[in-house]
Amino acid sequence: MSMRAFAEIDLAALRSNVAKIRERAGASRVMAVVKADAYGHGLIPCARASISGGAQWLGVALLEEAIAIRSAGIKARTIAWLVPPKSDLDVAIREDIDLSIASREHLLDVITSGRKVGVVPRVHLEIDTGMSRGGVLKDFKELVAALKSASDRSQIEVVGVWSHFARADEPGEPMSIDQLAKYREALDFLLVSGLDVKMQHMANSAAIFNDSLTSIARFDMVRGGIATYGLSPDVKLMGASNSLGLKPVMTLKAQLQLVKEVPAGASVGYGGTHTLKRDTKLGVVAMGYADGIPRASDNRAGVFVGGKRAPITGRVSMDQFVVDLGSESSAKSGDLVTVFGDGSTGEYTADDWAAASGSINYEIVTRIGPRVPRIHLHHESDHS
Ligand SMILES: *Cc1c(COP(=O)(O)O)cnc(C)c1O
Repeated sequence: MSMRAFAEIDLAALRSNVAKIRERAGASRVMAVVKADAYGHGLIPCARASISGGAQWLGVALLEEAIAIRSAGIKARTIAWLVPPKSDLDVAIREDIDLSIASREHLLDVITSGRKVGVVPRVHLEIDTGMSRGGVLKDFKELVAALKSASDRSQIEVVGVWSHFARADEPGEPMSIDQLAKYREALDFLLVSGLDVKMQHMANSAAIFNDSLTSIARFDMVRGGIATYGLSPDVKLMGASNSLGLKPVMTLKAQLQLVKEVPAGASVGYGGTHTLKRDTKLGVVAMGYADGIPRASDNRAGVFVGGKRAPITGRVSMDQFVVDLGSESSAKSGDLVTVFGDGSTGEYTADDWAAASGSINYEIVTRIGPRVPRIHLHHESDHS
């Protein structure tokens, strides 16, 4: 394998994060959210590690993600919540994948497919409690009536009812309390409608780790995404990984393509946006925005080499970026450097890269591209 650039994925850290989520979840079940290739960490190894770490459910956005899980032989309960009408629902139902429903059109499609396949589809009703993204809003009561009648005729099994927080990272945010009130109101209506729904789930990582929400938002199951990968849902408001007891799972490494001395006054990169103030050594890192390194990054990010941080200088290119190693650096062409890691030895973190590019840690790890192999370490059977 090429050493040009790769991401090490510490599955032991992932299992420990799932254990931490379980602790916060109390008696509630844990769903590990593994959408988007497990936030860029590699779907199948992370799905397996989540389960061995104690997650009972897997959550994905897309049908193809759920099918990939089944194709790998993973049988854990799995829900896909972004499977629009006209998708290949036959396959979803045959593969034993729970589906989310927020409209009657969608429900009718699911019923039709279930009848065709000869299996009773399992669905979760999604309610919009204020985020105005997914979930039923105005047609809630009609949809409940349709679900009830389909359920009475054994055309579907309604196993869950769920919603999603918009601002769960903000301590004491009234909107979260309001969303919870709307959710509970909906649960009451289901109860009077005689629709017995076993699984109630609402909490994302932010709600799981926000002390003001944890116990009132965990219901029957929590859905942990970013925390599974050891990252904080909101560094500014909730603190970084460490303070939440989480361990960042991804360490991104790359090679120095070239190290060379460059004199003061030289300008660096496209647009000549940076001019060197002193003679220095520059390192050319063999990764660029084609690999998911944000082009917008400034010198609050860079690489860690020889026990020191070397900040970005000039603009990030498609396949490479340049760092200022300092004139005393003993780094050489071909050296391996750490782009980001858990920060424990002084390296930059995904949080630093997020700050340097006006983004969030979610986007930093998820956007690492397919040219970058993921090396999964500490599989449970390794004992290493
Ligand atoms: C992505 C997602 C989650 C996980 O969110 P995190 O903030 O990463 O914990 C939970 N629920 C739904 C519906 C999602 O789409």
